Amino acid sequence: MIKTADTKTDPITETPEERRKRFLLEFEKPFKCEKCNERFKKKKYLREHKTQVHSY
Ligand SMILES: [Zn+2]
Repeated sequence: MIKTADTKTDPITETPEERRKRFLLEFEKPFKCEKCNERFKKKKYLREHKTQVHSY
């Protein structure tokens, strides 16, 4: 993992509300594209996204 000076995404500085939101997001869309950080509900959608957006 790359560490940056930006602490906004640091889990420690997150408010409980933000933590909850992030948890729900990860729960609802567990499949994340590692190239653009977009999230998907299903692995199939992620695969389709990769072939359409990152196919070249
Ligand atoms: Zn992507």
